[in-house]
Amino acid sequence: PQPQQQQSLPAIPQGVSRATFDKAITDLTNQLGPENVELNDKPPKDDGWYMEHPNTHDMMNVTGSDALVASAVVYPSSTAEVQKIVLWANQYRIPIFPISMGRNLGYGGAAPRVRGSVVIDLGKRMNKILDIDPDDHTCLVEPGVSFYALYEAIQAKGYDHLWVDTPDLGGGSVIGNTLDRGVGYTPYGDHWATHSGLEVVLPTGEVLRTGMGALPHSNTSQIFPYGFGPIADGLFSQSNLGIVTQMGMTLMPNPTGHESFLYAFALETDLAQVIDIIRPLRISNILENVAQLRSAVQTIAVQGRPRKDFYDQPGPIPQSIIDAEVSKLPCGKCAWLYYGMAYGPPHIRAYKLAIIDAEFKKVAGARRIDPATIPKDNYFWSRDNIAAGVPDFEELLWCNWVPNGSHIAFSPVSPIRGKDAERLMALAKRRHAESGIDLFPAFCVGLREMHLIVEIVFDKTKPEAREAAMACMRAMVDDAAALGYGEYRTHLALMDQVAGTYSWNDNALMKFNERIKDALDPNGILAPGKSGIWPKRYRGRGWEM
Ligand code: FAD
Repeated sequence: PQPQQQQSLPAIPQGVSRATFDKAITDLTNQLGPENVELNDKPPKDDGWYMEHPNTHDMMNVTGSDALVASAVVYPSSTAEVQKIVLWANQYRIPIFPISMGRNLGYGGAAPRVRGSVVIDLGKRMNKILDIDPDDHTCLVEPGVSFYALYEAIQAKGYDHLWVDTPDLGGGSVIGNTLDRGVGYTPYGDHWATHSGLEVVLPTGEVLRTGMGALPHSNTSQIFPYGFGPIADGLFSQSNLGIVTQMGMTLMPNPTGHESFLYAFALETDLAQVIDIIRPLRISNILENVAQLRSAVQTIAVQGRPRKDFYDQPGPIPQSIIDAEVSKLPCGKCAWLYYGMAYGPPHIRAYKLAIIDAEFKKVAGARRIDPATIPKDNYFWSRDNIAAGVPDFEELLWCNWVPNGSHIAFSPVSPIRGKDAERLMALAKRRHAESGIDLFPAFCVGLREMHLIVEIVFDKTKPEAREAAMACMRAMVDDAAALGYGEYRTHLALMDQVAGTYSWNDNALMKFNERIKDALDPNGILAPGKSGIWPKRYRGRGWEM
């Protein structure tokens, strides 16, 4: 196949004739039933919203609405039907692209990497919670189980002692988010680290279970992730080597008490000192959750009010306006806000909070904002929910910053060190200024590293806004790589570039990935190009973006 920009729908996969495609779709329809195979042959009426988003393309597209679209969407009901779809794809050489729920906003939504792929929407019908074990604190889920659904099922069973960890938006899939190595904000925020056991359909149709699940009749699959021999799980995360149909997940014990706290730091130049204070506190678990140090401008935007309310000129919003607006909020005038939570009974919390207070107050002008002074409709209480494992979606509000607000995320990983934070901020600031884009940075602090998440919010209906967002992203990825920082995750349109930055020893890692890809997926049907990994029959044909 050769890439080409087609305008007509359905977007027939390149290298497949219309006649073959029609025959293939008829064949698949006969196998799955007409209600479970939908051709994408009409232009979308609109992009809906977060909870009713399209599964044919990215509702927040940065590439133009026609570039990364599905030719059809299929809805399997079981692992056996996923196997049928995979065998069908091999027979007709049609690219397929699995999504669990397709809410991967900022990273490609429901879009496939190759135009005309058949999207496998696993979540619509494979949405069962197969097990919740109240003693082991584990669960077993299918792809269509969202953080909301899992949370509600646990509540419905009256299991108050079990907590779910949720990302900022609770409507995503537990499996989809975990496979993309997403994060949440309780002490169990590293989702990949807390999963245990996968069931996977391989690109040639076989099914395997990883870890202890490979042992027939095992009752330890959800409690011991490693099993025996090489750990295969990593091959199926951010990858195109398998379709995950079940996953075990550990659940957090209710810490029997929790308390959010908020610190405001006065100056942008406080960043390095704050980050250096955070490092030992986080590594020693005094700061217990994946907490966030956010720029004040995001706190203005997350009120949901559009930018034009504050400033209606091109170019980044001036600092004087940000300062004036932040001054009106409960946090008062500041440059950075640290949102955290202490867990456990009161005396344990008090012990940790006293240490945190003494350390943060070493920064001149640092203030602890008393939660009692924060109105109930303030964003602080949304963070309070999320850090306590209660799904929420107030975070979506900053997408209203511009009309038709969409976003794309720059997410480099760095040590928790002041000088690294400053370097990353400096490059992000320079590139945003060049592109005339407002800078929305937040540092998400893991255990020994942090992700800087910079959200670029753009008007998806304006080609110049999309192009500016992409130019800014591309420049930041290269600048960061030149300094030794790599992205933990990226948008479909940037996967080739990001994969190219992981080039040590003459691209040894990519050569290894390609050998595995060719061995496991000889016909190159599963998510070609995902994470920059192209199967043999696509390589060297100009598919990279
Ligand atoms: P999907 O879109 O279904 O899948 C994600 C990826 O995994 C896709 O590449 C897909 O191909 C692959 N995949 C999915 N299922 C399978 C499968 N069964 N087998 C093989 N491959 C599969 N993300 C965070 O992690 N943390 C946050 O705090 C966060 N905050 C956000 C805030 C806002 C305002 C927005 C708009 C987005 C945010 N996101 C965040 C990004 C995103 O919304 C979530 O990560 C979301 O959970 C991903 O969508 P999903 O769960 O529906 O996964």
